[in-house]
Amino acid sequence: KEKNPNEPEFIQAVTEVLTSLKPAIDSNPAYEKAGLLERIVEPERVVMFRVPWVDDDNNVHVNRGYRVEYNSCLGPYKGGLRLHPSVNLGIIKFLGFEQIFKNSLTTLPMGGGKGGSDFDPKGKSDMEIMRFCQSFMTELCRHIGADTDVPAGDIGTGAREIGFMFGQYKRIRNEWVGVLTGKGLSYGGSLVRTEATGYGLVYFVQEYLNCHDDSFEGKTVAVSGSGNVAIYATEKAQQLGAKVVTLSDSTGWIHDPAGIDLALVKQIKEVERARISEYANRKEGVEYHDGKGVWSVPVDIALPCATQNELLIDDAKTLVANGVKIVAEGANMPTTMDATDYLMENGVVFCPGKAANAGGVATSGLEMSQNSERLSWTFEEVDAKLQGIMKNIYHAADDAAKEYGHEGNYVMGANIAGFKKLADAMMAQGIV
Ligand code: NDP
Repeated sequence: KEKNPNEPEFIQAVTEVLTSLKPAIDSNPAYEKAGLLERIVEPERVVMFRVPWVDDDNNVHVNRGYRVEYNSCLGPYKGGLRLHPSVNLGIIKFLGFEQIFKNSLTTLPMGGGKGGSDFDPKGKSDMEIMRFCQSFMTELCRHIGADTDVPAGDIGTGAREIGFMFGQYKRIRNEWVGVLTGKGLSYGGSLVRTEATGYGLVYFVQEYLNCHDDSFEGKTVAVSGSGNVAIYATEKAQQLGAKVVTLSDSTGWIHDPAGIDLALVKQIKEVERARISEYANRKEGVEYHDGKGVWSVPVDIALPCATQNELLIDDAKTLVANGVKIVAEGANMPTTMDATDYLMENGVVFCPGKAANAGGVATSGLEMSQNSERLSWTFEEVDAKLQGIMKNIYHAADDAAKEYGHEGNYVMGANIAGFKKLADAMMAQGIV
């Protein structure tokens, strides 16, 4: 804590991981001798930089850019770029730290990293977004590369932003390489990447349900957020026969007891880039509420898909009182530690984001493979691979939890499964 003051999210993520790794660490004294934990928590490199840009009225703005290159033991640094006013070093470090274990769990050759800026894309024109992205990449391009560090999207960074950044990278470096993932399909993107995190989340839960003679059919589901992850989690859950009844954004939330009309959501969020409140204006029988509240609706399954620390202890109590069976994290660390403990203590199946939302980065890994081969795979091919990866992640977490005597504890299982591969590789590569 003294070494990382004012970084509460980072401390929270490290505490959660290290606590649950204890059995795996205690079982191998060589780790301590090799300073493994001290090295794992320290990023290999942190880059912070000025991002000046000019708005449509010729005013100059200066944002701060970040890239935390956390761990390259398993492959090139890999992780998204978050554009949101709340971004600071501690948040990027927490995300980068979690990313190491998540990427390890996918079994693909990817190290962990994360980046972004405190730039707020909301309300900006396309030209302002482009000027920001170009300025951001003008500095970032010195630090990344197809075999070094391959960023992707995250909150506030979608296909539009990735396109502007890719164009600027190519212009400065004079090379066409797969240096970013989440690219458009016309220039090296992968089919299924847009859907991957949300679909993968549902595939993970589906595997749990399959193994327990159950399915999504007829289940009621609460989803928070209304961005990339939320939309495609909703889509897949509905395709599998569930009824999704909520969505939200940072202003408020909707409750649609008849089930979310996803075509309408896509029109509002992806085409018009408007607020989720607009949904209630356009459909009968929908309630809109300001503030937070999706977790107050009685559901079988809750899928937090917005941001960190959005499901608090009181929400956990309400969910349990209303009979929730499964909470699976689409977002990164949306559930606070006390809320996680409460859910697990009360028999709720808890699927941590590190495992359950790994489908996005896994499909980014598949995009990198396609770029290296100079080939594009079909939707069915990528989707089948994604399903296979999510099934494997579920079983890796389940097996590790059983091996250490904590059956059903997927937090511990995911952390240990991700850690073991990383630890083996770090031990083999010496004190670096
Ligand atoms: P988007 O920007 O597409 O959507 C984010 C959604 O969350 C929006 O509805 C946004 O509302 C809401 N939100 C963001 N910040 C806050 C906040 N502080 N309070 C309340 N609501 C908020 O991002 P994604 O869907 O891509 O990402 C969502 C989560 O999933 C993040 O935690 C991200 O790290 C994680 N994730 C994403 C992956 C991906 O492939 N995209 C991969 C793995 C994890 P508003 O519009 O009002 O800001």
